[in-house]
Amino acid sequence: MLSLENLEQKAAEFGRAFVAPHTESIDKEARFPKEAYNELKKQGFMGLLVPKEYGGSGGNCAHHAQVCYNIAQFDASTALCYMMHNVATACIATFGTKEQKEEFLPKVAKGEISFALAYSESGSGTHFGLPDITETQAGEYRILKGRKSFVTSAQQANYYLTYTNSCKVNGGKNNWITPNDAQGIIHEEGVWNGLGMRGNVSKPVQYNDVKLPEKYLLGKDGEGETQAGVVAMYFVVGLGAVYSGVGKAAYECALAHCKSRKYTDGSSLADKELVRIHIAELYTKTQAQIALVYEAARAFDNQEADAVCKIFACRINATQLVMDICALAMRLGGGKAYSKLLPLERYLRDAFASQVMAPSLDILQVWLSDALLPKE
Ligand SMILES: Cc1cc2nc3c(=O)[nH]c(=O)nc-3n(C[C@H](O)[C@H](O)[C@H](O)COP(=O)(O)OP(=O)(O)OC[C@H]3O[C@@H](n4cnc5c(N)ncnc54)[C@H](O)[C@@H]3O)c2cc1C
Repeated sequence: MLSLENLEQKAAEFGRAFVAPHTESIDKEARFPKEAYNELKKQGFMGLLVPKEYGGSGGNCAHHAQVCYNIAQFDASTALCYMMHNVATACIATFGTKEQKEEFLPKVAKGEISFALAYSESGSGTHFGLPDITETQAGEYRILKGRKSFVTSAQQANYYLTYTNSCKVNGGKNNWITPNDAQGIIHEEGVWNGLGMRGNVSKPVQYNDVKLPEKYLLGKDGEGETQAGVVAMYFVVGLGAVYSGVGKAAYECALAHCKSRKYTDGSSLADKELVRIHIAELYTKTQAQIALVYEAARAFDNQEADAVCKIFACRINATQLVMDICALAMRLGGGKAYSKLLPLERYLRDAFASQVMAPSLDILQVWLSDALLPKE
């Protein structure tokens, strides 16, 4: 079991030792970060949000943000895959029946199994709360039919938390703990070729009459929308943390470059007045990103009334700032950055995923405005 003491330091050391050596090849080959993922399992990180009574660390949303932030500084894809696993774990820990918690959570804590999220569909895009996938009752089983358009960690995670329309509760939604090798599951190959986040190996997943026993229905029938509310909170904070980590990495890279870039007259880029001001701006933005993420996670853990607004705001902020930071860092990196001799172009490519991942930047702005100004 991973202890929560000095968690940020542990996650940063983990990132340096077990994530960083593979980052370049993961991006180049668009392959899953298997080495780091296996090591996360071995070292107890997968059980971060598993309650102590089930053998986990008993961490909260703030711990989730801390680990995601620190790992993302070394590889955004690894952090994203890990983040999604944590989100599903938190959902099972919050809403699972006693039997489900006893079956799944100790295995998560031991690093034996991991999870992914199968929410998005092409029929609803970024509005992931409106799936088309159907259920039908067949004796003691349910049959799932539909297609999920993006599943990060597809075939690598053992189970997909799958969001469906309940066939029993009118208008209700469900989450199913779906084994990745259930009969009727088909992974569509050769689709993912992301601009960035290339190691998340996202795949469309078909559910062709997938027959699931009702023990895999998470919690109560029709309760899925409430469960998705919790999924969304950990997810949005997690994405805020991941993209704050990308911003921090871009800043550190630009800073190091400005110090080491020397001209014939002996001066460095870091001596130039405007460059110094740009560095100050980058630093300010990286601090602002993670400060709001940590504040939102803290407010959520303390169940404060404005936690939801802070959560939406932290991801809006992290998304806008990471794109600004990466663009300015690329400018400071000059020809070296543009010709890919610095990892800045990877950070820039990774950063752009933040604005489109559901709930997208636009949708979060709509949600935040609705939360601040409820319509009559
Ligand atoms: C790297 C990556 C990993 C992903 N992993 C997963 C995963 O593990 N599980 C999963 O379920 N999904 C995953 N997704 C899918 C993701 O969460 C979104 O569902 C998907 O990117 C939406 O794409 P779309 O083209 O269908 O969006 P669309 O719905 O077509 O939206 C396109 C654009 O239009 C804007 N837009 C749409 N409606 C409105 C509106 N009403 N007002 C204003 N603007 C609007 C959106 O903000 C967006 O910018 C992943 C996506 C990426 C990029």
